[in-house]
Amino acid sequence: MSEKESIKTSKEEIVSYWVKYQDECGLSVDWAEANERCWRCGYKRPLERAHIIPAALGGKDEPQNLVLLCKRCHADGPNVADPEIMWDWIRGYGYPFYDMFWTTMGMKEYRLIYKHSFKNALEFIIDHAKNLKNDEEIEEFIQQRLKKLNDEVSTHWGQNYWNTATYAGKYRMLIKAFGEYMGVDIKRLDEIKGEENKPWWVEDLFL
Ligand SMILES: [Zn+2]
Repeated sequence: MSEKESIKTSKEEIVSYWVKYQDECGLSVDWAEANERCWRCGYKRPLERAHIIPAALGGKDEPQNLVLLCKRCHADGPNVADPEIMWDWIRGYGYPFYDMFWTTMGMKEYRLIYKHSFKNALEFIIDHAKNLKNDEEIEEFIQQRLKKLNDEVSTHWGQNYWNTATYAGKYRMLIKAFGEYMGVDIKRLDEIKGEENKPWWVEDLFL
């Protein structure tokens, strides 16, 4: 029997419990939609009942030990014996807009890999352009290219979504194409300096 089938507590019970104990302010989901949107990413997805303290660590089948997450967030969520950690995690990722969470995670991934933000890359290219284009042309190019790039990215087997590395890759492909369009060698993006230029692990591990 799968874990899903073995949970007796209903989704409705889980929602009505947490509405009383967690302020929706700062969450990715409005409580009014908590039975259809993931509590971590805020996307409308089939929701799974996720243990706060895992069953394997003695977590019980009761509303105060369960939250509702999409399959993807469920797989990412913490499995620890301290019940505060799940809500720290959900709140830590609290995001104010619906349906942009994973796009933004892709932007974070881009920054981690390329050591500058996607936004700074776009601005750098515009500032150093050899080919002068007006705002409408730039907007048009980016919209068209983004549309085209949807045919150049895919998903892993068994995943029905673009993972963050795929998003980051898509943004990089856009930056490459944009650099070419504007006449800027994207190797020059290394000139963008700032905190972001450090390797991603430096501060956390060694400083
Ligand atoms: Zn989610």
